[in-house]
Amino acid sequence: MDAGYGLYQLGDEHNALREAVRDLAEKEIAPHAVEVDEQERFPVEALTALNKAGFAAPHIPEAYDGQGADSVATNIVIEEVARVCGSSSLIPAVNKLGTMNLILGGSEALKQKVLSEIAAGEMASYALSEREAGSDTASMRTKARSEGSTWVLNGTKCWITNAGESSWYTVMAVSNPDAAKPADGISAFMVHKDDPGFVVGPKERKLGIKGSPTREIYFENCEIPADRIIGEPGQGLRLALRTLDHTRHSIGAQALGIAQGALDAAVAYVKDRKQFGKAIAEFQGVQFMLADMAMKIEAARHLVYAAAAKVERGEPGGSFASSAAKTFASDTAMEVTTDAVQLFGGAGYTRDFPVERMMRDAKITQIYEGTNQIQRMVMARSLLKG
Ligand SMILES: Cc1cc2nc3c(=O)[nH]c(=O)nc-3n(C[C@H](O)[C@H](O)[C@H](O)COP(=O)(O)OP(=O)(O)OC[C@H]3O[C@@H](n4cnc5c(N)ncnc54)[C@H](O)[C@@H]3O)c2cc1C
Repeated sequence: MDAGYGLYQLGDEHNALREAVRDLAEKEIAPHAVEVDEQERFPVEALTALNKAGFAAPHIPEAYDGQGADSVATNIVIEEVARVCGSSSLIPAVNKLGTMNLILGGSEALKQKVLSEIAAGEMASYALSEREAGSDTASMRTKARSEGSTWVLNGTKCWITNAGESSWYTVMAVSNPDAAKPADGISAFMVHKDDPGFVVGPKERKLGIKGSPTREIYFENCEIPADRIIGEPGQGLRLALRTLDHTRHSIGAQALGIAQGALDAAVAYVKDRKQFGKAIAEFQGVQFMLADMAMKIEAARHLVYAAAAKVERGEPGGSFASSAAKTFASDTAMEVTTDAVQLFGGAGYTRDFPVERMMRDAKITQIYEGTNQIQRMVMARSLLKG
């Protein structure tokens, strides 16, 4: 029975890509993952290595000097980086999130300007959330006022991943407060870090993904040229939500990578650790836990790749698939990393082994790009619509 996803098979190119990213991640990103987490510092080594190999924003189309990677390939990059360092995987993931509005709805001139800079190594962020407008995005208060040749932005966005490191920010703001439906009064803009009136706030102190800075950003009469609007006025929220269809499955890929990293560490540990005169891997109770972890990861992997391909092909049901992939993979990552800590016993609870960090990093994948409750609302809505 075809569940509507069509058939897919990873091609030789995808398999070769995975090998190349795994090699790079193990050699150039993994050695810094502990320090990046402990010092809560941006993984500059990862950014340099990813940029050098063309993996920092692999989704940028070739027309803008990018790699033109398809969504499955982009997810493989995110997954393999996340397997060793959750913070570093937010470089390719958020570069996609921060440019997808533009790719979907921007003018050719704006695409040329911004996307070619991202392809050349600059970074992009995505600014939708506000303190009082999290799940309820349409209640945002940041304003954009048209003044002929410029737009003037005022307000505060919060929880912005990689803020302070990125050069470009996709910002959603209310451009028509009188719109009959609040969602129709929101527009999207590209703001540059050097625009006058753009200010970056202090870093949040977080449970995990500590190497990826999360900050507020402030717009204080921030003036940008009129042609920095993405698409038409009033299209911003729709574009922002369409963007999430293209990127939620990428959070699934991040979750998947974190889970795989924890499983790999657990498999190695249980073969080595001895109790009752034998390796703990020989106990059936331990084996069943490993089997369940691997089974859920494999299911999540198929869902993530299938959703990526489906959204990219523009097939109906993309929102459902992307939300399902993100939710299943992130719930799996939380379960698998928790079980990995369990399999390490007391050692798992210390910072001497990576599973403790992976468990902390996994948690965010159930929260951002829409909490898993909101994803379930998206899925239920699409089921009930028929
Ligand atoms: C580390 C980090 C990085 C982030 N990066 C970005 C970023 O780069 N750009 C960006 O724009 N945002 C970003 N976010 C924001 C993130 O997307 C929001 O935190 C998330 O969407 C939830 O919003 P909230 O925190 O306001 O929670 P709330 O909306 O206040 O939700 C609180 C709880 O209520 C539940 N809830 C809310 N409404 C409903 C409902 N209708 N039915 C059932 N349950 C409901 C939620 O599921 C949650 O459990 C980031 C957040 C964090 C923590």
